Amino acid sequence: MLITGVKISRMSTGLKRPFKTALRTLESIENILIEITTDSDKTGYGGAAPTAVITGDTAGSITEGIQFIIDRIVGLDIRNLEIIMQKINGSMAGNTSAKAAVDMAIYDLYGKFYSAPVYRLLGGFRNTLVTDLTISLNSPEEMAEESMEAVRQGVKILKIKVGGNTEMDLARIKAVREAAGSDVRLRIDANQGWKPKEAVEIVNLMQNEGIGLDFVEQPVGADDFEGMRYVRERVTVPVIADESVFSPADALRIVNMGAADGINIKLMKSGGIYNAVKIADIAETAGLFCMVGSMMESHAGLTAAAHLAAARAVVREVDLDVPLLCSEKKEKGGTEYHGTVITLPEAPGLGISGTMIP
Ligand code: MG
Repeated sequence: MLITGVKISRMSTGLKRPFKTALRTLESIENILIEITTDSDKTGYGGAAPTAVITGDTAGSITEGIQFIIDRIVGLDIRNLEIIMQKINGSMAGNTSAKAAVDMAIYDLYGKFYSAPVYRLLGGFRNTLVTDLTISLNSPEEMAEESMEAVRQGVKILKIKVGGNTEMDLARIKAVREAAGSDVRLRIDANQGWKPKEAVEIVNLMQNEGIGLDFVEQPVGADDFEGMRYVRERVTVPVIADESVFSPADALRIVNMGAADGINIKLMKSGGIYNAVKIADIAETAGLFCMVGSMMESHAGLTAAAHLAAARAVVREVDLDVPLLCSEKKEKGGTEYHGTVITLPEAPGLGISGTMIP
């Protein structure tokens, strides 16, 4: 099965309510969707989300990047996965979102060629996942109300966006804990919103209030590995790296510095499944755990991330709630959501069978 080309389209998906973090606010999500064509009747689906504030990638740069990469892999045989992956990753520096879209579409085709779902080819550790649900950065009252509504609908794990000032963040988490009750697991994501000393103070205050946290995600700036270590050494709550880890090399640096207890892997940062598996291997070898998360991606990207998460035992946490935040779904097939329980498709490849785009 030889790669012959690519179709690229843009897609906008509505959100149930605005998505707010310490870095940005979104009213709807924009995605690039691709379909890699072959000399057979099989096509491979992939997607990318422009997240300029984190990856540096815009819709325009992703579209150009995808075409640039495809031009370098046209004519290659899908069975030669390693060669294709070397070409994708060697084609250009950066541009991890474009690489991710191509990478997942190639894995889709690889699975289709061997008639197996991608998560089974990667290890097949489990076929269902439970995701947390993200509560956007808002006033404590709004966050409490949203949390209560989620718990009423059966959500057991909430990821709370924080990253403001100490008083406000403490008020937020206290309001959420009170609204959610003691049985719900809480984790917080500061999205780089704190300075190291501030992070230590806030997290310890939360612990002293008896909040009970699974972990704190990216408390300090993405480049501040020393700051991450500083926080990790001074709080009892596990610290996990998100924006700090794009590549396997970043993961190695986190391990070598003892800067985190876990890594949040996202395909848009790693450049796809191929590098994400390497990050998972590094984390597992070093005794760290992984979460698999996503950007505000469409169903194709979320499905690819779910295949990775289901495949590997080291992935202990799942943050793939975007379909629950969206008011519509535009791709056919893929993972199925029953509340926060995700079921992997048994169809070959990623299991995406088409898009609503003409
Ligand atoms: Mg995060």
